[in-house]
Amino acid sequence: MEKRNELYRGKAKSVYETDNSDQMILLFRNDTSANDGERIDQLDRKGMVNNRFNAFIMDELEKQGVATHHIKLLSDQESLVKSLDMIPIECVIRNISAGSICRRLGVEENLDLNPPTFEFFLKNDPLHDPMINEFHIESFGWAVADEVEKMKQTTLKVNDILTKLFRDAGLLLVDFKLEFGRYKGDIVLGDEFTPDGCRLWDVNTRKKMDKDRFRQGLGGVVEAYEEVAHRLGVELPN
Ligand code: UDP
Repeated sequence: MEKRNELYRGKAKSVYETDNSDQMILLFRNDTSANDGERIDQLDRKGMVNNRFNAFIMDELEKQGVATHHIKLLSDQESLVKSLDMIPIECVIRNISAGSICRRLGVEENLDLNPPTFEFFLKNDPLHDPMINEFHIESFGWAVADEVEKMKQTTLKVNDILTKLFRDAGLLLVDFKLEFGRYKGDIVLGDEFTPDGCRLWDVNTRKKMDKDRFRQGLGGVVEAYEEVAHRLGVELPN
C-alpha cells in the first residue's frame, strides 16, 4: 500500500490518501494545541504515544462489538484506517463535570453526573464548535434520525466499555468526544481516542492525566500520557 497526498491537516493529526480509495493513513504528529489552535507546541514522543494508545483502544472497542475505522498500526506515528464520509458533529459524554460545561452552565468542576450527560456540537472552528441538538442535525441535513440514534447509542456503549477499562487501571473517564462517519451503509466510529480528546483523572488523587495538563500549563503532558498508557498495558518503545 502506497502513501500519497496529504488530504487534510488537523491540529495534531494529518490524513493521507493511499492507492486504495477505501483506506487512508493517519499520521499522529507531536503538535499539541489549545484555544482553537491559538497556542501550539511540539511535544516529543506524543505522536507515537497517541498512535499506540489509540490502536489499543480501537482494538478493545472492536473486540466488544463497536465498528471503528481503525485497521492496523503501520509505524510509530502512523495507522491505516477506513476512509469514511464524515458527519460534521462531535458527540460528547460527561461522567463528571469539567471544562466547557462548567463555563456554560456555571456549575462546579468535579460533580458526579448521574446519568452521564450527552451533548452534540457542530464541528466548525470559526464558530467555535457551537452546541446543537438533534433537531438542528436533522433540519440542516447533517445526518438523518437513524444515524443520530446510532451515534448516540454507540457513544453510550463506548462510555460503558471505556469507563470500566480505565477504572480497572485506576483512572476516571471524566468526559470524551467522538466523531462518526458513513462507510458502506453503516455508521462507523471515525475518530482517534487519546488523552487529547478525553479527560482522565487518577481515581485516588484526581490528578489530571490528559490534555488539560497542556491547556492549563500544568506541565508533564507526555509523561502523564505515558503513565496512562503504562497503566492500561499499552506497549511503548523506549
Ligand atoms: N474535545 C475534543 N475536541 C473538541 C472539543 C472537545 O477532543 O473540539 C474533548 C475534550 O478534550 C474533552 C471533551 O471533549 O475531553 C469535552 O470538552 P469540553 O466541551 O469540556 O471543551 P473544552 O473544555 O475541552 O474546551
